[in-house]
Amino acid sequence: MLNKKKIAILGATGSIGTQALEVFREHPDAFEVEVLTAANNADLLIKQSQEFLPNTVVIGNEALYDQVFQALDPLNIKVWAGENALCRVVEMEELNLVLTAIVGYAGLKPTMSAINAGKHIALANKETLVVAGALITQMAAEKGVNIYPVDSEHSAIFQCLVGEFHNPIEKIVLTASGGPFRGMKTEQLRQVTKAQALKHPNWEMGAKITIDSASMMNKGLEVIEAKWLFALRTEQIEVVVHPQSIVHSLVQFQDGSLKAQMGLPDMKLPIQYAMGYPERLASTYPRFQFTDYPQLTFEQPDPKSFRNLGLAYEALKKGGNMPCILNAANEVAVENFLKDRIGFLEMSDLIEHCMAKASFMEKPTYEDYVASDEETRNIATGFIN
Ligand code: NDP
Repeated sequence: MLNKKKIAILGATGSIGTQALEVFREHPDAFEVEVLTAANNADLLIKQSQEFLPNTVVIGNEALYDQVFQALDPLNIKVWAGENALCRVVEMEELNLVLTAIVGYAGLKPTMSAINAGKHIALANKETLVVAGALITQMAAEKGVNIYPVDSEHSAIFQCLVGEFHNPIEKIVLTASGGPFRGMKTEQLRQVTKAQALKHPNWEMGAKITIDSASMMNKGLEVIEAKWLFALRTEQIEVVVHPQSIVHSLVQFQDGSLKAQMGLPDMKLPIQYAMGYPERLASTYPRFQFTDYPQLTFEQPDPKSFRNLGLAYEALKKGGNMPCILNAANEVAVENFLKDRIGFLEMSDLIEHCMAKASFMEKPTYEDYVASDEETRNIATGFIN
């Protein structure tokens, strides 16, 4: 690579953010850290900045500004604070790419600012496309912005599509590990604890997505994300459970041929592919050994026991702001499950309740999404209390 890509990492202190920085360590000649951001973890943000010397950092929590400023000002690193700073920093002229690794709805606004400023996006924050897929994809098309998927399943599909030009897709198949509760029925799921839900068998991830994986909501969100990334109809998106997480997803073309992308479950691969595209950069990450995986197995999801996947399909079919309602309800559900205020199965009850109660809008604007998110959070909080 002749010119280094200058990259902003929104959410640098999280699971995706820290793994992205490992990719930077592996490829100092290809990528340069221009911006790092965090919400509250000032200590790690400072440590990362001392190593990678970004141009600017943003700390979301304004109360932590002084601490970060005092540590980084001597290094000539600019320090900004607050939510608006997050939206302004992505407009920096030098930036070539913005990696959106903030968790949840909070990722929407800065992603929109980055697209408006014409920056290409490496998208980990799937909630952005779940909430406002129609708006985001339209904005990206108008601004000539590419959205490179970071989610391993969507990266797999993206990789399968390279070189296929305009060959029509018959369907895609998203693989799901099934999470820690695979095979459990409703009665067993009623008893599961937060600690069990936080132990994912194959992936080390942030708390929210780990709970989403255990409840199958993660796959539901990914179905909606896939619709927007690859311009698919709902009927073209299937889910299959694949406990080993080696086949990351598949595309079936109109001749019946299936292409799959495989590899060890390691998020550094899709992060690196999104940042380096169209190049495949060399890496020293561990390699897959067939003898470690004598069997790769596949099974149907169980929609009766794991209702969230069905709710996500329902939201996608309904369209409009229904996926935004689903997402807001789910964020409140996960937050309260993590605080031991509701049980595992009550998360689906809560989401279903919000989908029935929140105001439906066929063609929402950005302001409508904001209002819908707020209304749903109020309904959800009322349901819990
Ligand atoms: P984490 O919870 O580990 O990290 C979240 C990051 O976002 C942290 O840097 C956090 O800062 C920051 N953050 C949290 N809330 C806010 C906010 N309100 N405003 C600004 N910044 C905020 O999440 P993950 O890395 O696991 O996930 C990030 C995104 O990537 C999610 O959308 C997830 O679905 C997606 N993803 C994650 C995968 C994974 O393997 N982890 C795989 C595929 C997709 P602080 O540390 O200071 O709180």
